[in-house]
Amino acid sequence: MNPEQKINALRDELREHNYNYYVLDNPTISDYEFDMKLKELQELETAHPEFYDANSPTLRVGGEVTKNFETIPHTYRMYSLDNSYSKEDLEDWEKRIKKLVDGDIQYTCELKYDGASMSLTYENGKLLRAVTRGDGFQGDNVTTNVKTIKSVPLQLKGDYPPLFEIRGEIVLPFDGFNKMNEERVAAGEEPYRNPRNTASGSLKLQDSSEVAKRPLECLLYSIKGERLGITTQFENLEKARAWGFKVPNEAKLANSIDEVLEYVAYWDVHRHDLPYETDGVVIKVNNLQQQEELGHTSKAPRWAMAYKFKAEQASTVLNEITYQVGRTGAITPVANLEPVELAGTIVKRASLHNADQIAKLDIREGDTVYVEKGGEIIPKIMGVDLSRRKEGIVPTQYITHCPECHTQLIRKEGEAQHYCPNVSGCPPQIAGRIQHYISRKAMDIEGLGGETVVLLVENQLIENYADLYELTADQVIPLERMAEKSAENLVQGIEASKQIPFERVLFALGIRYVGETVAKKLARHYKTIDALMAASEEDLVAIDEIGDRIAESVVSFFDSEENRALVNRLKAHGVQLQISEEVLANQTDTLQGKTFVVSGVFAKVSRNELKKLIEDNGGKVSGSISGKTSFVVAGENMGPSKRTKAESLGVPIISEDDFLTMIA
Ligand code: AMP
Ligand code: ZN
Repeated sequence: MNPEQKINALRDELREHNYNYYVLDNPTISDYEFDMKLKELQELETAHPEFYDANSPTLRVGGEVTKNFETIPHTYRMYSLDNSYSKEDLEDWEKRIKKLVDGDIQYTCELKYDGASMSLTYENGKLLRAVTRGDGFQGDNVTTNVKTIKSVPLQLKGDYPPLFEIRGEIVLPFDGFNKMNEERVAAGEEPYRNPRNTASGSLKLQDSSEVAKRPLECLLYSIKGERLGITTQFENLEKARAWGFKVPNEAKLANSIDEVLEYVAYWDVHRHDLPYETDGVVIKVNNLQQQEELGHTSKAPRWAMAYKFKAEQASTVLNEITYQVGRTGAITPVANLEPVELAGTIVKRASLHNADQIAKLDIREGDTVYVEKGGEIIPKIMGVDLSRRKEGIVPTQYITHCPECHTQLIRKEGEAQHYCPNVSGCPPQIAGRIQHYISRKAMDIEGLGGETVVLLVENQLIENYADLYELTADQVIPLERMAEKSAENLVQGIEASKQIPFERVLFALGIRYVGETVAKKLARHYKTIDALMAASEEDLVAIDEIGDRIAESVVSFFDSEENRALVNRLKAHGVQLQISEEVLANQTDTLQGKTFVVSGVFAKVSRNELKKLIEDNGGKVSGSISGKTSFVVAGENMGPSKRTKAESLGVPIISEDDFLTMIA
C-alpha cells in the first residue's frame, strides 16, 4: 500500500471502531490497540500533509482554538416546542389538529433529552458544520468543538442523501457529570450545577481539546432537507440510525392520546434509570405530509407538543441567608429554609449560588420561595411567591466583607463568585486547608476530626498542616472535650500519617485542580516532590491529561515562598515526599490501556488491594461495566445483573487467579 492508501484504510478502520465504541457501545478492539492505530494515522498524516481531511478521526482529539464563534443563519428555522402538562392539554391539542388535517393521526413519542440543541449539516456524507440553536434564526458555528464528540459521525454510512440537516441534543451523561464534579470539588471549586448547562457551556469553550476531554454525547431526533424520500417521523429516526447516528431506542408509535399517556406514565418512572437527564416527552404527528399541512405558529410547530414531567416542587419560607467561606476563599450564599418535605426528604437548606442569582430572582429574607429538586444534587430556589411577600421586607444586600475575617471581598472579572482574599489569615480557609489535609482520601489522620481542627486553629495551636507535626499531647489536653486518651490518639494519628504514600500527600497539599487522579498521575511521573517542584508549565502539559490550568496552578503553588517552606517542613518531619522504593519496584505498564471492573469478594487480596494492583500495573479501574470494559474480575458473590451485563456485552469475566497470573 502507498501512504495514501494506508491513510485511507486507517481512517476507515478507525471510523468503524469509533462507531462500535461510541454509538453501539460495543467495541471490538481494546482501547490500547485503538490508540496505537490512531497514533500511526497521526504520524502518517504529519508526514503527508497533502492528504489532509477535515473529517479525519485524528481531529477527534481537538486542538483547534476558536476565539470568536461565527454566527450562521439556519437554513430551516429551529423552533421551540409548546408545552403541555395534563391529559386535558393533550386532548385539546388533538382536537385542534384534527380540525386542520384529514384522516387518522398516529404519533411518535420520544423522550425530551435535556441538553443543548444542535443542528448538524452533512454534505456528501461528511459533517460540514454544527450550529447551536441560538435565537432559532441563527446560531453559533461550533463545528470544531462538535467534531470532538465521538458519537457525532464525521463520515456517514449507507444510503444517505447528498445534503441534509439533522437535529439533536448534546447531552452530558450523569456519570460523566458526577465525575467532573468530583474532580472539581476535590480541587476546591464549586461543582457545576446541572448537566444541561455544563453541556451547553462546553460547546462554547475556546479550546477544542478541552471539549474533547468532556464525555459529551449527541442524540439525534429529526432530519430536514429536500426530496429525502422519507414519509414519517419514525422513519426519520430509523434512517438516521442506519446512517451511523446515535438515535435513542426509547421512541415509540402511539395510535391515540391514551397510548401517548401510557408512554408518559411509563417514562415518568423509568427515566430515572436512564444515563441522561430528561425533562419530558415530545409527541409528534408521525405522518410528514400531515406535519406539512399543520405548519407552524410564530414560535412552535403545530404538529408537535412537549409534555413536561412534573418536577417536585414545594413552597416554604426563607428564614435567613447565611454565607459560607470555602477552603479556597469562595463565598457561597446559603438559603436557610423553614423545613419542608420534597421528593421524600426534608429540605432545610438550598444553595443560592452567588450574588447575581439572588439579584435576578430578587430573593429576600422572609419571602415565601419555591424550592425544586430536579437533576441537581442540592435543591434550588426557582423563584419567589410575590403574592405572599409581606410589607416592609427589604431587598437583599450582598455582603461586601468576609463574614469570618472581615476582609473586603473581591470578585474577579468575568467570575460570578466572590472571594475572601485573606488566604493566610482567614480562619475557615486556614481550617479548610488543614481539614482537607487530614481527610480520609488524603492523609486519613485517625483521632483528628474537622471540629477539632477548628478548635486547634481558634486556640492558635496550628496555622497550617506542617504545624500538626509539632503538636504535643500536653498542648491538646487543655482543649474542651479533649481527654488524655484522645489527645494521645491524635498525636499518634499524626505520627502514623508519615507512612501515607507520596501520591496522597500530593493530593493533601491542596493544590488547586490537583484532585486524587491528577495527584496519582503526577506522583507516578515525577516520583519525587523535588522533581515536581522543578517542573515548568511546558514539562507539565506534556504529560497525558494534564492541561494548562493544572500546570499553571502547580507552578504557581510552588512559586510561593510560603508553600515551599511548608513542603520543606513536612520533609523534615519525615512525611513521604517521594515514591517509596517498594512502590517503584511494583509498578509496571503490563495493563496499559486496559479497563477493569472489580466485583464480588476475593480470597487472596482485598478489593482495595486488587484495585491498587490494577493501577500499579498501568490499568484503569472503573465502577460500571460498559462496552469499554476490558475485563471483569469476579470474586465470590458477584452481582447477577453485573454478570448479565458483562455477558451481553461480551466482556470477558476472569477470576482472581487469572488476574494474578496476568500481572505475574
Ligand atoms: P423548549 O426549549 O422547551 O422550547 O423545547 C424545545 C427543545 O427541546 C428543542 O429545541 C430541542 O432541543 C429539545 N428536544 C429534546 N428532545 C427532543 C425531541 N425528541 N424532539 C424535539 N426536540 C427535542
Ligand atoms: Zn475571610
